[in-house]
Amino acid sequence: MAVDYGLQGHVAVITGSTSGIGQAMAASLAEQGVNVVLNGFGDPAKIEADRAALEQRTGVKVRYHGADMLKADEVADMVDFARREFGRLDILVNNAGFQHVAPIDEFPVETWNNLIGVVLTSTFLATRAALPIMKAQGRGRIVNIASAHGLVASPFKSAYVAAKHGVVGFTKVTALENARLGITANAICPGYVKTPLVEAQIADQAKARGIPEDRVMGEVILAAQPNKQFVEYEHLAGMLLYLVSDMGASATGAAMVLDGGWTAT
Ligand code: NAD
Repeated sequence: MAVDYGLQGHVAVITGSTSGIGQAMAASLAEQGVNVVLNGFGDPAKIEADRAALEQRTGVKVRYHGADMLKADEVADMVDFARREFGRLDILVNNAGFQHVAPIDEFPVETWNNLIGVVLTSTFLATRAALPIMKAQGRGRIVNIASAHGLVASPFKSAYVAAKHGVVGFTKVTALENARLGITANAICPGYVKTPLVEAQIADQAKARGIPEDRVMGEVILAAQPNKQFVEYEHLAGMLLYLVSDMGASATGAAMVLDGGWTAT
């Protein structure tokens, strides 16, 4: 039987939840009785089909807001949409992101700005909009999906590593400013999870390093993880549900590492 985290009736916004980790995290929250606001890009018909299927399967209310994380007014409206739809906001998961792999001296400036915008600045913007609602409630949970790359670096990922280190730092400040208000903020730092983002990286890394894709998988991607296993969605869901439940009340300002031993090396 599934563990009951006592989250029935809570409300969550999960950015970048039309794919990969965000979609899996939204499902894990909905399965616990949390009403969710989905966000992210994709084919509108697929987004609506996925939304309706999650609602049907779990019995919670599932809404979608198409905010572009690069647009401050849209991010703020997405957070307020949760309040308008459900009257509250208990959980914010800042997850939207993308990767770009290139040497620094060839890294396109526009791509740098967009990556910092989607990964780091949108985390600030959504948190900024959510805090007044959470403060009024006297409780809130902010979980930022950072990365092992929030703690250590790899070549050719300058914008991503800078943005994710920024997310870990921003998480600490969010925790400190709200430590006495019933609001926690934590980062989850996964190693490699086999999502569409990583599948695209396999091709990009092959190009940047000039080696075939099958060698990238073993020599580059899982080379970093001592356990030689991708991180599974269930492992991430376990940490997320712990952090957003009452059991997670003492965890704040932390970078929760789920990386098969990568950052221990
Ligand atoms: P993904 O490509 O499967 O999903 C990314 C999501 O972000 C999608 O829903 C996409 O539409 C959304 N998104 C991108 N740009 C957006 C924008 N401007 N506005 C709104 N939504 C936008 O990727 P994923 O692997 O599931 O990654 C999710 C998060 O997890 C990212 O922050 C990523 O850096 C992080 N992460 C991933 C891994 C991994 O191995 N996959 C490891 C560590 C951390």
